[in-house]
Order: sequence, then structure tokens, then C-alpha cells
Amino acid sequence: MKAVQFREIGRSPEVVEVPDPEPGPGQVLLKVTAAGVCHSDFVVMQSPAELGIGLPLTLGHEGAGTVAALGAGVTGLEIGESVAVYGPWGCGTCPECAQGKENYCRRAAALGIRPPGLGAPGAIAEYLLVDAPRHLVPLDGLDPVRSVPLTDAGLTPYHAIKAALPRLVPGSTAVVIGAGGLGHVAIGLLRALSPARVIALDVSERKLALAESVGAHEAVPSDDRAVARVRELTGGFGAQAVFDFVGAPPTTAIATAVAATEADVAIVGIGGGAARVGFGEIAYDASVRSPYWGSRSELIEVLDLARAGALEVQVETFSLDEAPLAYRRMHAGDINGRAVIVP
Ligand code: NAD
Ligand code: ZN
Ligand code: ZN
Repeated sequence: MKAVQFREIGRSPEVVEVPDPEPGPGQVLLKVTAAGVCHSDFVVMQSPAELGIGLPLTLGHEGAGTVAALGAGVTGLEIGESVAVYGPWGCGTCPECAQGKENYCRRAAALGIRPPGLGAPGAIAEYLLVDAPRHLVPLDGLDPVRSVPLTDAGLTPYHAIKAALPRLVPGSTAVVIGAGGLGHVAIGLLRALSPARVIALDVSERKLALAESVGAHEAVPSDDRAVARVRELTGGFGAQAVFDFVGAPPTTAIATAVAATEADVAIVGIGGGAARVGFGEIAYDASVRSPYWGSRSELIEVLDLARAGALEVQVETFSLDEAPLAYRRMHAGDINGRAVIVP
């Protein structure tokens, strides 16, 4: 089959021919119907060894497909069924996994369990091997191409936002920094889940326009005037919740500077920035956290929200052969919404 692999540091992802995978006991083989391209793939391609990732690596940690074959002992799935893949695979039995929080599995590292596309062979291929049926959620009528970003670009913001919801009462403000793949879905999620006023920040005019089109009340250039602008828009008080989908030094500085007293600041982006939280460096009693992906039940909730028509995802589609181009365009900041590979 065709697969898009990262084979060597310094080289771009390439389309290669690899053997067709076959499901072993307990595994499920999917014919991939859609696979998303995430900015985190660049983090992986910079330093795979530090992340414990071996090469070559078939990319793609957002996947959807139809069930093509079942390994021995797998029940409860029909051949041809359309499903989304829950990506942050865990052991399934530790206390976190027992709560569905496989993203925080305490044994995954020790057991060598890696998510698809982040260690295990990923979804940007014709077929994807899924390690267990519990990592599949039926799409149940949802379009795989428009829904596949929900498995990460939807699930990650959903998990970050859900914890902040008690602060997002009427009259409150949420700031979203970076209206890219994750950020534009975050804006839609905030609008669907809370009455908060949403202020989006980005460095690109086009992304600011996208932010407004998916529901941001205000779109503000992410420059050295951004903090003053957010303060002005919030009567000087700041935002009750801040979601940084860039996580680079300039944005973590903005994220902490726009936080209100008792705000919740989530640094989601992996951009080498660090939030300074010493006394006087952030508003009183503000908290900063660094959430990772989301739980199995949260993925079900995100897909339910999409099925209810409450969530709009902007996608640009590419064929498998065009996947290297999708990565180049994402690197240039030139994807509006999420790039989705359709094999
Ligand atoms: P993306 O490339 O689609 O979007 C990034 C956006 O940030 C773009 O719109 C870009 O214009 C904007 N941007 C860049 N510099 C900016 C600045 N200084 N101020 C404001 N906006 C700026 O990326 P993505 O796929 O949405 O991923 C976003 C980040 O989240 C990446 O760092 C990725 O690695 C990370 N991520 C983290 C998790 C997690 O679980 N914590 C999960 C997925 C992705
Ligand atoms: Zn990702
Ligand atoms: Zn576990």
C-alpha cells in the first residue's frame, strides 16, 4: 500500500510503498477514509529520538476509516463500518485508562505503547492498523473528511475548554491565541459550549478572518499591541480563560499578560515558550496548565456535538500523493483550517 513516511531527519515526508498491514489478535484493520495533518508532526520531525520515536514513521495521528478486517477475537464491529480513531492509545487498564483518560495513561511509556503517527504507523496511508476496538468511535452518519480533525484538532481544544467552563459565565471572556487547525475549532467549541465573549489572536489576516467566520466576536492581530487591545476589550480586567494554540515565547507572554484574576490559562501549543507565573508576573490566583489531547469519552462528546450541527470545521483536502505538499503548505502557515488527506 501507499503510505506517507518521515524517513530521515532533515528530509520532507515522502510517499512510499510499504507492505499491506494485517490485523493480529485483538487488532482492527481500517481502510483509511481521511487523515488529518497536525502541526505537532513538525515537532516529531525535528527530534524523533528525543520523543522515543523510531524511523521510518508513517505519519498521521488523526484518522478515520471503514473497518476492513478484524483480528482474532474482535467482536462488536461490522466490516464496512465508518469509524473515527481515538489516537492517544494507553494500556486500557491503569486508573487513568479506566476513566477513559488514555491520554494520561501512566503505563504507556513503560509498555512502549505509542499513538498512531507518533510512534506506531499512522493514518496517512491506504490502511491503518488499530491496536484495539475500544480506540474506535462510530461516525454514525458524520462525513469522515470533515470529522477527522475532531479526533485531535477538536478533541484537544475540547479537553482544554471543558476544564475552564465553570469560569466562562455570562459576561466572561475567552482568548484564543492561534486560529489554525486547533484554534479555529476551539472558537467554534467555545461558542457552542459557553456564553463567553471570544477574542481570537493570530499573526495572519486570513486566519483572523477565519476566526470571525467560525464565531469569534473579536479578531485581534497578535503583535506587541495585542495585550493592550485585549485589556481594552475587557475593561482592563483581562480574560477568564486563555487558550494558547501556539505556545511560542511571544504567545505564552501574551497568554499570561491577558489573564484575569483567577483565570485559567491553557498552554496547548508546543512552541518552546514558557509561562512565567511568579508573584506579580500574572494576575492573582491565575492557574496555568499544559493539557494533552483528550479522553475517549470526550471524543464521543465532540462527535456528538458535530452530529448536532453545533460545530464547523474548515478543511482543505489533499490526495496521498499531495500529502508532502500539504506539509509544505502547513509549514508556510498557508492552510486555512485543517489539511485532510483523502487516500
Ligand atoms: P496550525 O499550524 O494549524 O496553526 C497555528 C496557528 O498559529 C496559525 O494560524 C498561525 O498563523 C498562528 N500563529 C503563529 N504564530 C502566532 C503568534 N505569534 N500569535 C498568534 N498566532 C500565531 O497548528 P495546529 O495543528 O493547530 O497546532 C497548534 C499547536 O498545538 C502546535 O504547536 C501543535 O504542536 C500543538 N498541539 C498540541 C496538542 C496537545 O495535546 N497539547 C495537540 C495537538 C497540537
Ligand atoms: Zn496533533
Ligand atoms: Zn493506562
